[in-house]
Amino acid sequence: MTLLNAELHINVSILKENICYLKTKIDKKSNFLAVVKANAYGHSLKKFVEKLDDCVDGYALVRLDEALQVRDLSKKPILLMQGIYDDDEALIAKRNGFMCVLHTQEQIRTYSRNLENKNIWLKVNTGMNRLGFSENVLNDLNLLNIKPSVLMSHLASSDDLHNPSNNKQFKVFNNIFEKYSDIKQRSILNTGGIINFPEHAYDWVRCGIGMYGGFNGEENLKTAITFKSKIISINNVKKGESVGYGGRITANSDKKIASVYCGYADGFPQSIIDGTKVMIGEHEVPIFGRVSMDIVTVDVTDVPDIQFGNWVEFWSPKNSINKISNNNSFISYEMMTRIDNRVKKVIYED
Ligand SMILES: *Cc1c(COP(=O)(O)O)cnc(C)c1O
Repeated sequence: MTLLNAELHINVSILKENICYLKTKIDKKSNFLAVVKANAYGHSLKKFVEKLDDCVDGYALVRLDEALQVRDLSKKPILLMQGIYDDDEALIAKRNGFMCVLHTQEQIRTYSRNLENKNIWLKVNTGMNRLGFSENVLNDLNLLNIKPSVLMSHLASSDDLHNPSNNKQFKVFNNIFEKYSDIKQRSILNTGGIINFPEHAYDWVRCGIGMYGGFNGEENLKTAITFKSKIISINNVKKGESVGYGGRITANSDKKIASVYCGYADGFPQSIIDGTKVMIGEHEVPIFGRVSMDIVTVDVTDVPDIQFGNWVEFWSPKNSINKISNNNSFISYEMMTRIDNRVKKVIYED
């Protein structure tokens, strides 16, 4: 029995190619941590680890339950990028050999009681002002018996090669690194950093969006997923009539409008604007009317032989997720992680 559903097809070969390409950017000595938080940015965490464990040096994520899922499948290093918050969590981290980021005063006691130094990453704030110890706090910081093994920080504008904040952050970061000579290793780059500042790869890079093909402006990285659903109805709409909730758009000529079996409950945003292009085979068709919970309406007037059951692709390796994101004031990260659980996931290699 096959139930009609919106589908997300995940192309493992493209994930592999993207990872290989990203690795060519950085020094061979640098360890490549695959950032797989949020269900591998919606790409199925378990499948990712099953299929790609040989391609990466370890994993980085945020939630402890996701880290445990990875540990079931891989012996490689796993980093909790926001650390752990109490002794129970610390015990789990210790038992599973998780590396943990230390970024607040409150975590110090828990870490010193429970974790081995080799698994502790000290996070410093070098200008993003979100997480981490700032330079002036570090001087007075009493880390008890903790001797972290890795110094880490995060860039605020790594996707913007010309933003002066990047070099400022590198400078602050390396000043701190020189001061804390006990700490032997460093990590500061995410995808944008790997693309724009690979000379700062140091000992560990933390790469997410690039693997999934959602990094803007790098043609060598391809969208690894196809998000699609089928046409369930085709209607003739007369000139002057409007389509969908609120009658947001009115036909300026007689039109054929197809309703597609997918909506904002599947993760296709309600706010997608009219005229946004999606694909039917080789044909580009525009979104026509507001996205509903379970239906997307598209203008198929110019598509020959359009039929019930035809697939409509919202994004795919051939039709980058960046395009639809950029045109709709989204970021690819959000589009990827919005996909709902009810969407059928298909994993394939070609
Ligand atoms: C999510 C995250 C990354 C990965 O960023 P991408 O831009 O997806 O490569 C790296 N480091 C930290 C601290 C993160 O939270």
